[in-house]
Amino acid sequence: MGLTVNNLVEWMNNFATKIEQNKQYLSDLDTAIGDGDHGFNMSRGMSAVSQKLSTMPDSITDAFKQIAMTLISTVGGASGPLYGTAFLEMAKKSSSTSDIGELLEAALTGIKKRGGAVPGDKTMVDVWTELVPEVKDHSLTAAKIDEAVAHTKEMVAKKGRASYLGERSKGHIDPGSQSSGYLFKALLETEGI
Ligand code: ADP
Ligand code: MG
Ligand code: MG
Repeated sequence: MGLTVNNLVEWMNNFATKIEQNKQYLSDLDTAIGDGDHGFNMSRGMSAVSQKLSTMPDSITDAFKQIAMTLISTVGGASGPLYGTAFLEMAKKSSSTSDIGELLEAALTGIKKRGGAVPGDKTMVDVWTELVPEVKDHSLTAAKIDEAVAHTKEMVAKKGRASYLGERSKGHIDPGSQSSGYLFKALLETEGI
């Protein structure tokens, strides 16, 4: 068992669908505490990823590299390099394991290193930090994903554009945490991972 090229592609296509369906919502979240582009950035990136993966990659390492490069070159903003780093770290880690928990743990380490955010800073790091251990324990549920995303609402942003608002960033869900929530939901719904 473990991640295969087939279920990785299925996971990414499922993520792309969720981003497409919720791009307006993600951008509305970003309008409240940022510059209103997160949904459109992610939608541009994930439709390019789906297009790229329509030619089946040779291995999960090859697929992760293609996903990372596509996100880095199409998403832009803060989230593009961060998601790009996540997938690049999974590409590196996939030479020694296909265990999804270990892969996601390597991705989280990369996101933290790249963006310098720690838990509580109201960034995607918060959702990843809550949910990676759930994946490792095989105890991830849709309800836990929703809770992790909702937890960012009462935080004060310390990193990214939302940090310019200080206390006024409170009371709004972090957009990158919501898009990360969709990544974990898509994972949960992919058979065999
Ligand atoms: P931009 O803010 O450049 O317009 P996006 O709107 O696409 O980029 O992405 C914003 C999201 O990126 C935030 O909601 C947050 O989750 C995430 N983010 C921003 N800065 C950081 C950081 N330093 N570390 C981790 N995540 C971050
Ligand atoms: Mg933005
Ligand atoms: Mg922007």
